[in-house]
Amino acid sequence: MTPTWLGPEISRLRGAFTAGRLPHALLIHEAPGAGGEWLAGWAAQMVLCSRREEAPCGRCAGCQRAAQGQHPDLTVMRPLESSTQIRIEQVRELAAELALTAHQGGYKVSILSPADSMNRFAANALLKTLEEPPQGTLLILVVTQPSRLPATILSRCQRVRVRAPERADAVRWLEATRGPGDWERVLAVLGTTPMAAAAADPAAVVEVAAEVRRGLEEATAGGGDPVATAERWARSELPLRLTCVENWLTERIRGQAGAGAFFTEVRAGAHPRGHGKSLDLHQLFGLLDAVRELKSSFDAPINRGLALESLLRSLSAGAA
Ligand SMILES: [Zn+2]
Repeated sequence: MTPTWLGPEISRLRGAFTAGRLPHALLIHEAPGAGGEWLAGWAAQMVLCSRREEAPCGRCAGCQRAAQGQHPDLTVMRPLESSTQIRIEQVRELAAELALTAHQGGYKVSILSPADSMNRFAANALLKTLEEPPQGTLLILVVTQPSRLPATILSRCQRVRVRAPERADAVRWLEATRGPGDWERVLAVLGTTPMAAAAADPAAVVEVAAEVRRGLEEATAGGGDPVATAERWARSELPLRLTCVENWLTERIRGQAGAGAFFTEVRAGAHPRGHGKSLDLHQLFGLLDAVRELKSSFDAPINRGLALESLLRSLSAGAA
């Protein structure tokens, strides 16, 4: 089902296509998880559909192959499994592919996602294709941080902005595509990223979030077994658990900062204790940094259990 919040972008793209004004390069700038890739896939189907007047019809062979990622004239380029970057060899391959005539005699489409994962060399290689695109080319770059791409690339693409939907729109779409579930809670845990929520098991997310909260409350009260809890958390659903810890800490910081107190304290550089049995802002920010660090180094071979254990111990120490 079409994400309702993409309606305006969809009609603009369709209008441009019908009028023969579709540019040969689109830059879809999306809020994280807001459906940029979905829109790229939709646009690919539109130009590869054999029923031009109702493209994308969703029923013809062109649409179906594109939807399954098996259309000979559609390439989707991502960082290779072992890497976080799109590399120059991949872009060269893509350029060579685009230079060939379309198998079906129509468009040749390439989706690069996330395009801001192209390294400098890859971006330079892509520039050549952007400067002189072969006839019938549609390049679609999906990015969350366009500023990471060179200006020379940005200036050659038409920008399409995809904003995060309102919570209520996201919930309605999730109910329609995935069926019933506590999507409000799932979105509260994962942030306003309907695409990430759509890939999740709602019951499991809610359960893990509740379990992490219990563990953190327990540690804050000086109880629980940090070693066992840390080991259990490191073993399963670690990224989700870290997001839950991050949410919990953020909540605490907001709660403790109150309205004006936060800015006063930060400006004064003071981190007073004396909030009863709780960690002060300075400590909470320190823990938040540690969790974010752990999240970003997720692929790095560090001892996650130990890092979590130290976090739980810090909470317990705050209770002492
Ligand atoms: Zn079709």
